[in-house]
Amino acid sequence: MEIAGIDPELIARLERETTALLSALIRIDTSNPPGNETAVAQFLDDYFRAHGLEGEICGEPAERRSFVLRLTGSRPGPRLVLMVHEDVVPAAAEHWTEPPFEGVVKDGYIWGRGAIDVKNLLAAFCVAMRRLHEGGRQFAGEVVFVAEADEEDGTIGGARWLCSQRPDLVACDYLVNEGGGEFLTMPGGERLYELHVGEKGTAQFRILVSGESGHASVPLRHGNAVVGAADVVRALHDYEPRLSLETVPAEYVELLVSDPSLRARLLDERSARAALAELSESDSPGDRLAADLLAPLYGITFSPTIVHSSGEAVNVFPPSAEVTVDCRMPVRWTQDRVAAEVEAALAGVDARWEIEWLGTIDGNASPADTRLRQAITAVMGRLVPGSRVVPIHSVGFTDSNWFRAAFPAVVAYNFAPFLVDDAEAVTPLFHNVDERISVRDLAFQSVFAYELVREVLG
Ligand SMILES: [Zn+2]
Repeated sequence: MEIAGIDPELIARLERETTALLSALIRIDTSNPPGNETAVAQFLDDYFRAHGLEGEICGEPAERRSFVLRLTGSRPGPRLVLMVHEDVVPAAAEHWTEPPFEGVVKDGYIWGRGAIDVKNLLAAFCVAMRRLHEGGRQFAGEVVFVAEADEEDGTIGGARWLCSQRPDLVACDYLVNEGGGEFLTMPGGERLYELHVGEKGTAQFRILVSGESGHASVPLRHGNAVVGAADVVRALHDYEPRLSLETVPAEYVELLVSDPSLRARLLDERSARAALAELSESDSPGDRLAADLLAPLYGITFSPTIVHSSGEAVNVFPPSAEVTVDCRMPVRWTQDRVAAEVEAALAGVDARWEIEWLGTIDGNASPADTRLRQAITAVMGRLVPGSRVVPIHSVGFTDSNWFRAAFPAVVAYNFAPFLVDDAEAVTPLFHNVDERISVRDLAFQSVFAYELVREVLG
């Protein structure tokens, strides 16, 4: 697949420029923790100064700064933010085919930590901003490039800090962020691109199980905290929460599932669970993929991830044990609603337990029918003719959440489209060994960003 309607010589130049930039960015190790994102902020500042542009390095502490560059158009208009994070997750070099922090270019791919999450967008946005500036800023309003610290760990929270401390720099009408933009090829050959317009919230908690201490030579009938914790894990894992259609877009179900009766049952709360099970056991790989994509949209999920006992001796029953749980909840759900589900899930567990909340972030979403969506659809229609852009909620958290919470009128979407590698190839590479991006996908992301700014602010 080629990018439609763009001069091949320009594409070749953009491939060279974005590849060199991404390689250089991968060589700056911003593994978080500790992050050290200021090195990237400085790199970006130098890049834009070399092109006659001045941005601002800001944030706290000194070694964890963000970079913001604003380009004002030739006439008044809305403000569009292109946002991307500077940090990456750590990488253990011994498991990689190519070293993770050298930016190796091999067989048409750039290898290294951050190649798709998400230094690719740093490089793509840099080049798009340079072109917009050098093209005479033929657009309305303002485009703002925000490279933020600390997305992966969130301790200092670059985006959170910018929203609360520097709204003058980042408050906006539209925001485009990482996530979304992966594509599936449907059985009929049509390409379906996911546009993430909202995202689930997180309600992480710990279940503290208390038990009877004592000598372990005689098994306890009741009150062994370790057995209680095991029962809690099993009960949460097996729990079937009431499914909710609130965040299951009918359009998405219609595109993913060809059988009309199955489709109808997926869109009915009473029959959805059986329909999802049927889909996931289907002989067709397309159906099984659809089940994987749809299931998390139907409501809350409980994933027990850590189990601890306070026991220190093998022959003593511990007084307590605890189970830590990652829970994702749909938009509009609250911690109270999750608490009620936990109660229901653990109703049959024979143990004394209490819940300790570790942190809750409400999910949020932007409307799906907006000028930004029209612009994304129009640009994708031109660059990848025949593609479909479908709005859904993402199951993971991104920093778009802070923008929606801080600026209620903002339309914030996650969309970084790929051209060459589909979702099946790209998704497993996130936070994994051998992270890499096709040189052509990288250039495509830069072309898309440039065209999108012109479409939104044109
Ligand atoms: Zn990321």
